[in-house]
Amino acid sequence: MENLVKKFLKDKYGIQAEIQQLEGYSVINYKVSVKGESKYLLKLTGNLQEKAFLKIQDLIYIHLKGLEDYSFPQTVFGLDGKHIYLFTDNEGNQYLAHMLSYIKGSFLAKDEKSSELLQNLGKFLGTVNKHLLNFNHPVIQARHFKWDLQYFLEFYSNPDYVKDPEKRKLIEYYLQQFKENVLPVLPGLRKSTIHSDANDWNVLSNGKKITGIIDFGDVVFSPSINELAIAVSYMGLGSEDPLSNISEVIKGYHQKFPIEEKELNILYYLIAARLCTSICQSTKSSLKDPDNKYISIQEEQIWDLLIKWIQISPDKARIIFYKVCNLKNETRRLKASLYENRIKYVGKSLSVSYKDPITMERAAFQYMFDKDGKTYVDCVNNIMHVGHCHPKVVHAGQTQMAKLNTNTRYLYDELNNYAKGITSRFPYPLNKVFFVNSGSAASDLALRLARNFTNKKDMIVLDHGYHGNTASTIEASPYKFNSKGGDGPEDYIHIAPIPDGYHGRYKSADANAGHKYAELIRKYLNDKNAGFICEPIVGCGGQVMLPPGYLKEIYSMVREQGGLCISDEVQTGFGRVGTHFWGYEIHNVIPDIVILGKPIGNGHPIGAVITTDEIANAFDNGMEFFSSFGGNPVSCAIGNAVLEVIDEEKLQQNALDVGNYLINELSKLRNKYEIIGSVRGSGLYLGIELVNDLHSLQPATKEAVKLVNQLKEKGFLLSTDGPYNNVIKIKPPLCFTCKNAEDLISAISDSLKVMDK
Ligand code: PMP
Repeated sequence: MENLVKKFLKDKYGIQAEIQQLEGYSVINYKVSVKGESKYLLKLTGNLQEKAFLKIQDLIYIHLKGLEDYSFPQTVFGLDGKHIYLFTDNEGNQYLAHMLSYIKGSFLAKDEKSSELLQNLGKFLGTVNKHLLNFNHPVIQARHFKWDLQYFLEFYSNPDYVKDPEKRKLIEYYLQQFKENVLPVLPGLRKSTIHSDANDWNVLSNGKKITGIIDFGDVVFSPSINELAIAVSYMGLGSEDPLSNISEVIKGYHQKFPIEEKELNILYYLIAARLCTSICQSTKSSLKDPDNKYISIQEEQIWDLLIKWIQISPDKARIIFYKVCNLKNETRRLKASLYENRIKYVGKSLSVSYKDPITMERAAFQYMFDKDGKTYVDCVNNIMHVGHCHPKVVHAGQTQMAKLNTNTRYLYDELNNYAKGITSRFPYPLNKVFFVNSGSAASDLALRLARNFTNKKDMIVLDHGYHGNTASTIEASPYKFNSKGGDGPEDYIHIAPIPDGYHGRYKSADANAGHKYAELIRKYLNDKNAGFICEPIVGCGGQVMLPPGYLKEIYSMVREQGGLCISDEVQTGFGRVGTHFWGYEIHNVIPDIVILGKPIGNGHPIGAVITTDEIANAFDNGMEFFSSFGGNPVSCAIGNAVLEVIDEEKLQQNALDVGNYLINELSKLRNKYEIIGSVRGSGLYLGIELVNDLHSLQPATKEAVKLVNQLKEKGFLLSTDGPYNNVIKIKPPLCFTCKNAEDLISAISDSLKVMDK
């Protein structure tokens, strides 16, 4: 090939030259030196369709000559005055060959990114963009190019070639955000001819100033702001604080070419779109050419930046961008008036978390963002099981909502598919499902099923248990009826003591605790009893793990006497406990009725009851069971998507791994800080109990509340619960990572250090 190229140079340009092939993405580049001096760049383009475009590039170079402070390549013409030739290699492959002047200088990629240099990059790009405002050509305007950010959705909407589901989720998330936030404003953005690839291996610098730019192969007619979005994406790579680097470039750019507000408003998403485009392109290219290292050279850095980017609130980014451009951000609503307005119209019995409540604006995966752009790591919302705004779940809901939403009085595939999907997660004989639209409605139905089947009314419940907000479920919830405002138990409700191995009369160290606690319910077993209901880890009771053997003994006692056993899996289901998909499995039992809620719809209101054929058939007694929303096609589509994500992203395994890491690290903290009395739970369903005295176990309620408020200030959302409100609950979305856990542990440790003093 080399000899062929040299001969070509001699024939067409009349030069005797040395050549060196340079790394390239899709074009073959040769550095051409004459008498030891780098003089030209020969470019061989495999895409023969590009001829018209190459011709126009020459016009751009001529236009840019006007910017005398900077260097741009210039076309080198052949002996016959032409500048594009057909070149054929030894294997008969054809290329368009053209030659450019070689611009000396070092790449910006090699420089330390000082504020000055970053601002100068901005100034350079602003200057170039402004100068190109009056360069228009129909060939460029007609270009429909895969790297052009305005076509992000069109080219990348199905990134199924990105095999890692966690990574694909990030791309799909930003595709959806682009559709929601960028697409509607795209038509109103000013457009111009832009270089469109000012990455730091194309920009030349002398360490302080930008001296020029090469490689005009990506030139497009696109929203002008895309120039900036593309360039700054690379300035964030490898940086601890990408937003700060990026802001410097924006500041410089704005000085030369003022950015419009509507452009700044979407810049965050355009940057994300560029990062995703790079990932999609490099993934596609490495599938075709697995040995090309140049392709994946930046991929890891881009992933790192995307993972950082998702943790930055788009509002925070926008606020900072406005600030560096000296633009006023729109006035914000005051938190106090939000609260006042709320209680004007909404019942006050709805509580608000934290002394200083948070006004939430948006969320992504395990992160939540408030109105001022502060990021919180969500360590407590187990409803957002697979992560806030998971693109697969959002997509399932959006598409089904736009197609059909009706009720179970019609036949439709979605119901059958989901009913099959959810029941297949249970062992025989649990093979029937009823759909409702909340955990409370599911608990209510579970009680009805048990009472109908047994023709009895009494229920045994666990102390401090909670099963819902309806009249019948409040009756089954000591957490409510025995607390402030409660009326105490009905005479058909019997409260078994919570088998708490920490506070209770039998401690977890006692190998027989399970049996001893189980024996305590014997006195409630009689011919009036319809059954027993509990959670496999008692959440509102303070994340209390049931002792080994406890449920097994109780289930057999209850059944022997004719009652049914109900497991409330609203909190513990769907892989959260890590070791198993359902909490009851920890105890090696199979319930007669299972209650599902919260995580089942990842925030979409779904509840379900799973039971046996026999119990379901007995319920078919002539009275119709109908739930207006239960089992509607939208809910079913969402429920199915949640199940798929749990499997694809191996979230149960992640719950186990990250949960074990947390238990381990929290146990180390317990050895260090006396206030931590107990660390317990399974998977990502954990509790930290704070006590003031390790002997009397006096609850450290005030301290627990204080700690949770302090952690909020540090950007971690948690809550307290338990009979003494001194147990801090950790139950994050299951995509919570070890890095999130590490950050949480260090924040807890920092707060306890101060509290200890
Ligand atoms: N059961 C348990 C164990 C719960 O934690 C809850 C909600 N906290 C419910 C039932 C009721 O669910 P929902 O709020 O969806 O009605």
